[in-house]
Amino acid sequence: MSNLSLIPATLIPGDGIGPEIVGATIEILDAIQAPFKWDRQLAGMAGVDASGDPLPQSTIESIHKTGLVLKGPLTTPVGKGYRSINVTLRREFGLYANVRPTKTLIQGGRFDNIDIVVVRENLEGFYAAMENHIPVDNDLKAIATCAGYTSRKECRRIVKFAFDYAVQNNRKKVTLVHKANILKELCGLFLEEGRKVAKEYEGKIACEERIVDACSMELVIKPETYDVIVTTNLFGDILSDLTSGLTGGLGLAPGANIGEKAAMFEAVHGSAPDIAGKNCANPIAVLRAAALMLKHVKRDDLAKRIDKAIHKVVVEDKVRTRDLGGNVTTKEITAALKQAVA
Ligand code: NAD
Repeated sequence: MSNLSLIPATLIPGDGIGPEIVGATIEILDAIQAPFKWDRQLAGMAGVDASGDPLPQSTIESIHKTGLVLKGPLTTPVGKGYRSINVTLRREFGLYANVRPTKTLIQGGRFDNIDIVVVRENLEGFYAAMENHIPVDNDLKAIATCAGYTSRKECRRIVKFAFDYAVQNNRKKVTLVHKANILKELCGLFLEEGRKVAKEYEGKIACEERIVDACSMELVIKPETYDVIVTTNLFGDILSDLTSGLTGGLGLAPGANIGEKAAMFEAVHGSAPDIAGKNCANPIAVLRAAALMLKHVKRDDLAKRIDKAIHKVVVEDKVRTRDLGGNVTTKEITAALKQAVA
């Protein structure tokens, strides 16, 4: 393939298990001659270690140029330190829709017919991170506050995105998930706009509403009744980990962050520091994210080859990493995937 026909894309290997699983994914993408010209950049702890900056300017500039990113997981210090670089990247590039599909791969588990797509609002809610402390007496952190917000414009845009996604992907139903019984304004606005958008799709796509607690219960009892879920930022983050757990866990779950001018593809999971460097991480979540990226650039043919190879290796040949109940290493499953995809 000539260099001219390649699509420029930013590659961020990430932290923890990131370099291992992103490296594995690139090997498989190379095996199918995926049409990307990678610009490797750093972020997260890798950025801090290299230059003291978790989001170096060169990384931002690269994404402004390419508008397309494959990203490994980034570590965010818990309860202290710099703010999440994932959240910053989503806000900086206006990646308003987080699409997280989960589908049963290995039959014979607790549920066999799950095919759910969580569409999560990616820019607002409590992730806007307007957090503060109010001192009382000598305790400077006696009270912690967090002001979340939703805007009519973003509520409309994300619900419309979910309905359009449903139309384009032959889906039947969208469920609006909220907590408008308690958060009457924050979630009430989401529901109000959601209902208006749903009316525009009447007769084409069915619409249901669920309060997030009832939805969580139903997801673990009768998940096969769900199709597309659209919800606000925090609920979407939690529910998409839950749905990935229903279908084999985080090692299989990909995500796409979509904006008007850029798109970023990544696994749902984090940097998994507990298994980093141990050659046992499952590369499939990032590989599936790369398949979503190929679909995004209209190379469905290559995305299908990746999906088929995953099916052959994991389902037919039962080559599985530890998280899927097997005992092969990252390197072994990568070699099997490379062979299957060729
Ligand atoms: P995690 O997703 O990293 O790990 C949760 C559990 O799943 C761990 O037991 C881990 O070993 C396992 N796991 C995750 N990915 C796996 C894989 N590919 N193969 C096998 N097992 C896998 O969540 P955490 O431990 O809560 O978070 C660790 C760090 O990652 C934190 O700093 C967090 O902020 C960050 N994080 C980043 C992203 C992202 O970059 N998009 C997402 C979530 C968490």
